Amino acid sequence: MPDYMIELRNVTKRYGRIVANDHINLGIRRGELMTLLGPSGCGKTTALRCITGHNIPDEGRVFIDGKDVTDVPTHKRELGMVFQNFALFPHMTVADNVGFPLMIRGLPKAERQKRVMEALRLIRMEEYADHYPRQISGGQQQRVGLARALVYRPKVLLLDEPLSNLDAKLREEMRFEIRDLIDRLGITAVYVTHDQAEALALSDRVAVMNAGRIEQVGTPDEIYDSPQSRFVADFIGLSDFLEGTVVAVHAPQGTAVIRVEGLELYVPVRQDMSPGRSILLFIRPNDIELLPASAEDNANAFPGVVHKKTYLGDRNDYRVLVGEGLELRVQTDGKVRFEEGERVKVHLPVAHCRVIVE
Ligand code: ATP
Repeated sequence: MPDYMIELRNVTKRYGRIVANDHINLGIRRGELMTLLGPSGCGKTTALRCITGHNIPDEGRVFIDGKDVTDVPTHKRELGMVFQNFALFPHMTVADNVGFPLMIRGLPKAERQKRVMEALRLIRMEEYADHYPRQISGGQQQRVGLARALVYRPKVLLLDEPLSNLDAKLREEMRFEIRDLIDRLGITAVYVTHDQAEALALSDRVAVMNAGRIEQVGTPDEIYDSPQSRFVADFIGLSDFLEGTVVAVHAPQGTAVIRVEGLELYVPVRQDMSPGRSILLFIRPNDIELLPASAEDNANAFPGVVHKKTYLGDRNDYRVLVGEGLELRVQTDGKVRFEEGERVKVHLPVAHCRVIVE
């Protein structure tokens, strides 16, 4: 039995006819940062609120540190929380803001001061103790929010889109700060976001949610490299999807041949492949190679025409027409350049053509 700090067992939460969480099972290990990732409305916040106690599930149970807390009120669950629209009290100093949760818990002043300074040290803001929120930057306010959530040494930290009010550059910096802070504390954390880059950069594991259900749980690598459904492959990173039929299986060579829109494509063989079977493949646009039309003929290299080109700074993004009406999205680094209308050769390396079994 794994040692989970937080566990959702068969949790279902409905709002009228909407099933916001549909029989969710999720175990979050001690010291792990687990991200709930998915599009707007998929049920991330609802699941988090089942952990905090702001939602009572209609079915299922919630465990924290081995204890069934389904019926325990929020303030008795020993949680630290930072929410999307969190606000510091404008008329209180940074130190008083951070110490506020201790004051309402009635801790003596000396103990409060000690813990506040400890929390400010954690976020490297001791020298701002006497500043007011309007005198510090957005990123610093966010760090103070974190210190306030951590000051009473909670068992777990819950963060719901905590960076969504920051600009893109600051968001990126804060990701590293949060990760670093959680590593130093060794605390268990649950992080909610719809931003896949944030999830991949921050998390030990990611739970990808769709329409109230968990589609896949895995490390960032597993989620990106081995998505188990079209939804996950589509939501995490960019993908070209190819629907085809198995034509031949060459087990000794480790390949199978798939027919897709008049093309014959070699892919790594799988046990469940047999001629005639329909298959869904995906390949990442940056794993496809774009070569001059004169390039040597090769397995999985097909003639094509650049239909559209978009300049993205460090990369170029191409739409290339191949075979009988297949449009592939291809991304190359900035050095590889082709023009719209140019004839090219498109190479889909065998190892990068991956099969999704749904
Ligand atoms: P977002 O990223 O937009 O915050 P989310 O993934 O966190 O979305 P939830 O807020 O959990 O999604 O919402 C899941 C579903 O439940 C949505 O269809 C939403 O409209 C519905 N819902 C959430 N809270 C309530 C509520 N208090 N009353 C009625 N419906 C709700």
